[in-house]
Amino acid sequence: MPLSPTDVALVTGASSGIGEATVVALRQCGVVVHAAARRVDRLEDLAERTGCIVHELDVRDREAVARIGETIPVDILINNAGIGRALGSLWTADIDDIELTIDTNVTSAIHMVRAVLPGMIDRGKGHIVNMSSVLALYPAPAALYGATKGAIHKLSRDLRQELQGTGIRVSEINPGRVTTEFYNVAIDDEEQLAKTIDTRIEEVTPADVAASIVHVVDAPWRVNISQLEIVPTEQTYGGSQFVPFKRRARQSEKEAL
Ligand code: NDP
Repeated sequence: MPLSPTDVALVTGASSGIGEATVVALRQCGVVVHAAARRVDRLEDLAERTGCIVHELDVRDREAVARIGETIPVDILINNAGIGRALGSLWTADIDDIELTIDTNVTSAIHMVRAVLPGMIDRGKGHIVNMSSVLALYPAPAALYGATKGAIHKLSRDLRQELQGTGIRVSEINPGRVTTEFYNVAIDDEEQLAKTIDTRIEEVTPADVAASIVHVVDAPWRVNISQLEIVPTEQTYGGSQFVPFKRRARQSEKEAL
């Protein structure tokens, strides 16, 4: 629905990266914006710059999330908070990182939707924007993270069906590589981190993603942009790889016996 100053948005993960840029962009459109994250000092700085309303919130705190749904008349949810711990191989992943990533990216995002939907349905007005990833759609050697974003992909699609007749819109955003703190939080090993962030391409910026989100939420009410993939021009996904198995000869020998 074309944005208006009476619209109320809630942006989670607003203390950096895509969330922070989305707060800025929505405030520029005149929307009332509630900005939520754990690093409240960052949010206070953002509030000074934009006039957003600050909420210190851990999205894994179920009671606090439920309270937010009861106290803020959210019209637009930018369900963005997320992490990528255990981003490398699943078989070496730290057990706690697996739990943390699933809880943050999937369970907490679902509870956030659960918290705001009753109010949206009562008021007959609402838009859920779920932050997914291209890794929800294409294979990559990041199985756990891909699985969490795959869940958000399915959540978004199925919500469209569940919410038929309510007038509530649901959109999924699928960014490729965006320059944020995401990998700094995801990867502890400095060498691995340096390799991962050294893409030598011109990456998408948080402001680019925020502009796409504004496009999605500003569309006429009759239009539901269900999915939006936004990737660097210099990045592609998919294709197949041919990687010889180092012990293949031995394997074949065994079979020949
Ligand atoms: P950042 O690390 O810059 O931002 C992540 C945000 O999530 C921070 O504001 C952080 O706030 C918040 N967050 C993390 N855990 C919690 C928590 N438990 N409670 C509340 N807030 C939390 O990364 P991005 O901006 O890149 O990430 C935003 C979203 O975009 C994520 O869902 C990510 O998966 C997705 N994405 C990112 C891509 C990229 O290339 N950067 C590509 C595709 C998708 P705080 O720590 O202050 O709580």
